[in-house]
Amino acid sequence: MQPTPASLPRLIQAIAAVIQENAEAVTALDQAIGDGDHVINLQRGINALVLQSAEFDRLDWAAALQKIGMTLMTAVGGASGSLYGTLFIAMGKAVRQRPFNLQTFAEVFAQGVEAVKQRGRADLGEKTLLDVLIPVAKTLRQEAAEAAPLPEVLEKITRAAEAGVESTRDMLAAKGRASFLGERARGHLDPGAKTSQLMIAAIAQVLAEEPSATPT
Ligand code: ADP
Ligand code: MG
Repeated sequence: MQPTPASLPRLIQAIAAVIQENAEAVTALDQAIGDGDHVINLQRGINALVLQSAEFDRLDWAAALQKIGMTLMTAVGGASGSLYGTLFIAMGKAVRQRPFNLQTFAEVFAQGVEAVKQRGRADLGEKTLLDVLIPVAKTLRQEAAEAAPLPEVLEKITRAAEAGVESTRDMLAAKGRASFLGERARGHLDPGAKTSQLMIAAIAQVLAEEPSATPT
């Protein structure tokens, strides 16, 4: 059975929960190298998605991803709002007219991440959420190409996200507010990378428990 956007509310709930559980820790990261608003920005977007949850059922993937992107773009604000908005809008475009399977999803996600790179004029190694998204996109493509079993795919992307956020610790920040800090940014994880990792872990966990919601 093909998964439909009906599985989105469950994923959004899991994301809301994991961001809430880690709100203080992430805010501390953004207070260290940013302006402390990252969690609040993100939660504004997540709350807006929770309110829209019932509508996803009626949409196809292209429309659902587009809607998520538009909502995040307007509700989140900050640097991360336009970046996450771009991610989902680009994914919505890329998925049009395609069957929704793991191979497609891997390609669609990679195209979304590519759009985020362009929007943020950023790449790997600049202490941003891309240090999580880029390795996860790469891992997902490798796993899809090998037609790896779902539990392995989920495990690998969870690990890739963890390694990605950890890699930001000793980086200098080249983009965003943290770039003004120079050497003082070292020693702190990037807050955007951290929330990306938390959201990916939460999604993987739901899909591991509920395989029917996963593209195979
Ligand atoms: P702001 O920095 O505008 O207050 P947020 O606090 O919501 O926005 O988000 C900060 C996060 O956004 C950073 O931790 C970083 O991961 C990400 N970020 C900032 N600028 C860029 C960029 N140019 N490219 C990619 N990610 C970025
Ligand atoms: Mg901020």
